[in-house]
Amino acid sequence: MVLEQIAKEINSAQKIYVASHINPDGDNVGALMGTYIILKDSGKDVTAVRIDEVPDNIKFLPRLSETVSDEGLEAPDLFISVDCADLERLGGLKDLYLSAKRRINIDHHSTNTNFGDINWVDSDSPATCEMVFHLFNNLGYEISKDAATCIYTGISTDTGSFKYDSVKKSTFEAAGVLIDKDIDINQIAVNLYQSRSKAKTDLLIKTLNSLKYYHDSKLAIVHVNDELIKQCGAHKSDSDGIVEFVRDIDGVEVAILLKEKSDSIKLSVRTKEYVSAINIVSSFGGGGHIRAAGATLELPLDKRIEDIVKIVEGELNGWRSDN
Ligand code: 5GP
Ligand code: MN
Ligand code: MN
Repeated sequence: MVLEQIAKEINSAQKIYVASHINPDGDNVGALMGTYIILKDSGKDVTAVRIDEVPDNIKFLPRLSETVSDEGLEAPDLFISVDCADLERLGGLKDLYLSAKRRINIDHHSTNTNFGDINWVDSDSPATCEMVFHLFNNLGYEISKDAATCIYTGISTDTGSFKYDSVKKSTFEAAGVLIDKDIDINQIAVNLYQSRSKAKTDLLIKTLNSLKYYHDSKLAIVHVNDELIKQCGAHKSDSDGIVEFVRDIDGVEVAILLKEKSDSIKLSVRTKEYVSAINIVSSFGGGGHIRAAGATLELPLDKRIEDIVKIVEGELNGWRSDN
């Protein structure tokens, strides 16, 4: 039903914008570009609106040069947001989004605030890109090799390369159809997972120096700041992937990365088997998924570490008493 509603909105709109979220990742850039390419190739007047810098490992995606900044853009008939849990995730595009005649919100975060006129939120879906695939595949749109490359990339990055417990049969079915579009899955994997720059590697090594374990080593915390990023000659987005590295340590259930900035701290949480990452960020007003969530915290760092150690203790004890 919702797919038909979305199709109707797309068909009746003249001018369409698509945008993803601040601090872009593979799933949202993939969903942004996949949606843009499919609609553009079908003859629609569509614009992919850029927010923030795209991380290096996603820069290989096709047609990124066709994205534009929001400067001078006028209100569209239809604005589609992808992979955004709330309006704040649109950053500086929020007002432009609100100015649209109609708004569609396509997302897979359980914390989505249903801010669109049409909200297609499927928290069971492992990636917004899988939703984008089902949308256009079911509606009979042509999915080109370029669009398939973008969509496959987003499914791969949000599922940790098809290994998280969010992955379902439909995920592999989508991947199968996309592979049939003649995409180069080895080239995608090399770009995504085997192209870490030396500066990013240096940042990973130096950040790991801050690694501390708590609660029988079930909790592991690392932190990084802008100065260290600069010292390594790295980009801000180069801290992506560090928290997953920490999560992958044997016995760690909760991995935390704190990015200390001049006025706030960005928290990233990853969990492995039984603790909810959403529960950990909820008292800080954050959101996300059961195994990956985030929030923005107030300084200072040492106090927030104390808070997190306490919150995680409660979650670990809660789990013990339930089992
Ligand atoms: P990351 O740790 O990679 O920044 O984010 C992990 C997950 O948490 C993502 O799905 C992202 O959407 C969500 N997330 C990260 N930061 C925030 C935040 O400040 N607010 C909300 N609502 N969600 C966030
Ligand atoms: Mn995302
Ligand atoms: Mn996502």
